[in-house]
Amino acid sequence: MRTSWGSATDRGRVRSLNEDSLLAYPPVFMVADGMGGHSAGDVASRLAVEEFSQLAGRTSASPDDVHQCFHRTATRLRESVAAGRTAGTTVAGVAIAAHDGGSYWLVFNIGDSRVYRLSGGDLEQISVDHSVVQELIDAGELDPREAVGHPERHVITRAVGTGAEPEPDYWLIPAGTSDRLLICSDGLTSELDDGALRSILASVADPQEAAQQLVSSALQAGGKDNVSAVVVDVAVATDSPDVENTVRAPDRGATEPGPDGAWDDEIDGATIPRPTSQRQTSQRPEVP
Ligand code: MG
Repeated sequence: MRTSWGSATDRGRVRSLNEDSLLAYPPVFMVADGMGGHSAGDVASRLAVEEFSQLAGRTSASPDDVHQCFHRTATRLRESVAAGRTAGTTVAGVAIAAHDGGSYWLVFNIGDSRVYRLSGGDLEQISVDHSVVQELIDAGELDPREAVGHPERHVITRAVGTGAEPEPDYWLIPAGTSDRLLICSDGLTSELDDGALRSILASVADPQEAAQQLVSSALQAGGKDNVSAVVVDVAVATDSPDVENTVRAPDRGATEPGPDGAWDDEIDGATIPRPTSQRQTSQRPEVP
């Protein structure tokens, strides 16, 4: 399956450092939103991108390939973060997968970065957040419309690097010829609702322009967090032979330190792990 894609990331208008990192290089497209403060978060998200980059250039990736990337990221995080410190990262994305002779999207997620699919004009969120707010919605205790302003909206319940072994969720879905996928950090979805996402994705044909417009719209809406977007299109047979060979170097977020080399974990918009004392065990959905 041939794809074309675009990506954009920005530290936003409040934060001094971009702790998001992203990768857009077939067969893998992903976003990682690091956390930990004092430049540990950007290290965590960059490690994830480095490990998933090992799949770059293949025609497809298997669930085991992707799971190994999660495993290696967690191992390297444990080794590279100083004792007594915590660093972690969300990881959400898609890999092109071959299954029963057909092309599929292998969607993967840990945390509250997201994967959406625009198909036939409809926008559908495929990944399910690992967050306190999502748990409250699932339990029927919170109306989804109230999630945006919820005080615990940035508290996530799973991440790579905060526990023992990462527990990603996976979905294997058939790829459609008109699919457009969006992979993004919560800095995008906390500023733009689904209607705004759909409007840009449905109206901007070029994936690079679409990614840039999504990010700039989030900045205009406040830009309170780092914001990242990767847009992936299925490139059906076209008269442009360049599509197949347009391979861009892996992208990642800027990593310049803040004025004092530090930032505040409590700043509005920061993704933060749930305190260990509140951690609950949640059932891992079946891998298809
Ligand atoms: Mg974030």
